[in-house]
Amino acid sequence: MSSTSVSILVPLAGPAPELPSTLETIERYLQATGFAFDIRVLDRRDGAGYGAMIRRGAADAGGSVVIVVDPELPYPVSAIGDAVALIESGAAEVVFGRHERCRDSIVLRSLLVPILPDPSLQLKAFSSDAARLLLAETKLRGSGFDLETAYLANKYGFRIERLTVRAATTRTAFGFWRGVASAISIRMTDRRNGYRAPRRCPVCFSHEVWNFDQIPGNVVRSCSRCKCRYLGRFEVDDDNRPVRRVLRGQHAQVEIGDETLHRGVAREKTSQRRLSALRRHLTSRARVLEIGVRDGSFGDAAAREFEYVGIDRAAPAARAARSRGLEVYCSTVPNFVNTGPAFDAIVLFHVFENMADPHDALARMKDLLKPGGVLLLSTFDTEGLVYLITERRWMTQNFRTHLILYSRSALIELLEHSGFEIISIGAELAYRDHRFLRHSVAMRWPAIAPLVRMLLKVLPDPLLLFSGSIRIVAKRRAGAPVNFRAIRSVEPTHAR
Ligand SMILES: [Zn+2]
Repeated sequence: MSSTSVSILVPLAGPAPELPSTLETIERYLQATGFAFDIRVLDRRDGAGYGAMIRRGAADAGGSVVIVVDPELPYPVSAIGDAVALIESGAAEVVFGRHERCRDSIVLRSLLVPILPDPSLQLKAFSSDAARLLLAETKLRGSGFDLETAYLANKYGFRIERLTVRAATTRTAFGFWRGVASAISIRMTDRRNGYRAPRRCPVCFSHEVWNFDQIPGNVVRSCSRCKCRYLGRFEVDDDNRPVRRVLRGQHAQVEIGDETLHRGVAREKTSQRRLSALRRHLTSRARVLEIGVRDGSFGDAAAREFEYVGIDRAAPAARAARSRGLEVYCSTVPNFVNTGPAFDAIVLFHVFENMADPHDALARMKDLLKPGGVLLLSTFDTEGLVYLITERRWMTQNFRTHLILYSRSALIELLEHSGFEIISIGAELAYRDHRFLRHSVAMRWPAIAPLVRMLLKVLPDPLLLFSGSIRIVAKRRAGAPVNFRAIRSVEPTHAR
């Protein structure tokens, strides 16, 4: 017996002579699937509109999946099973049934959201969370209700999938002008704060956040205030286990530069560039902490002139770096306990994007640094030209490993609020080898791949390139730290 329970809502538009056979078909189908189920026929009690009917039905529905079907059932009943599968597998939290010949109105899409329901079908499915939050928040009574649902699903960060069905139907819930009128009314309600605010941006705490894109199993959210992009759901595996630094004897010389370990020349040269940027701010034998050691190439270079300590949350990376003689701990930033003197510098190369709570991470980094200590971090810039013209198309790539992508202005604000003073911001150039370049160009722009291959023949390998990243150097301010959490708690917010 499956633990899935399905609540079916059948909203009646008027007297429906076909209804008994519809109910019988659905019942027979669901019995065969083994789901626990309940079917509710919704009538127009007290002259309530379509939206009011669904709201009432959803409030009473107790299933883990709530499905609205057309009373005439103009599609195969197996569409219900497909919708349940989409929701139960976690692929979507909201499913809109869609006629195979349905064409979305561009006007409505630009007025509201990119994924709209099909006006000729009522078939919709919701996870119990989505049903509770979304449907309770809707205001419209009539046919604009479906558009409102799509709008709110975007606002609250639910993942929407469309389920294409073969249907014999000519009925339309809303025509073009009705749709536009509803869209305007939805927008006006939102302007008046008529809907509950969505969860805030993790960077600037703004409520002005939207679904920017959908990637497999997750959504990418976008903050209109600070221009950050972040994953809708973080899966953070933090076991809160403290990892203590083990102090070594003074100047314990480590054997580095093991020639048997083959490393990418490009990465080594990039590490050298990063090191020379850091060298400007430090004296010799300064204490440097690297967060996220990756392949350890920066550690190798840094350990020759500085007292280097690295942490990496991935055990294999930490082990590999340790095997080269580097002092590296397998730890996250919150779990790392520095038992030695505070660091002169902390460096993060494309690691800050993987931290779920940037405020907490910066506060802890500040504690690890001595006053006047240097923080050097490199990250993508969502306000940069390279990002705007290329990377936003490759969202899945970016969010395979990252949780939050920052804009330059958000990072400045974030650092200044966290007790740092910005020293410099500049483009971060990195070395890329020809093999990598040929591959990425062939993947993204196959049309110009032959030209790029020819060009590369005369260019040095590896090649120094600008990849849309910025490098920020900041200094820990002396004085009392700014308690950003206190600001967060007194900040006036919309009632939730
Ligand atoms: Zn923001």
